[in-house]
Amino acid sequence: MTKPASDQDKPDTASPSAKPCPICGKPAERRWQPFCSKRCADVDLNRWLTGAYAIPVVENDETPEEEGGTAE
Ligand SMILES: [Zn+2]
Repeated sequence: MTKPASDQDKPDTASPSAKPCPICGKPAERRWQPFCSKRCADVDLNRWLTGAYAIPVVENDETPEEEGGTAE
């Protein structure tokens, strides 16, 4: 278990080809692409989930089954 400490401390954010984080505009972190951090990735994920949950749901809870009186 020997790791080169000198290579561990290198910030990997200043890549010229890195696109800016769509959430906050900071340079994207490689491991969180296309975001700059887990936080921004979470923000985007939350937006996505919120959007998914915002889809109008048709509830079949009030189906008038008893009103007909005759079951098939
Ligand atoms: Zn960000």
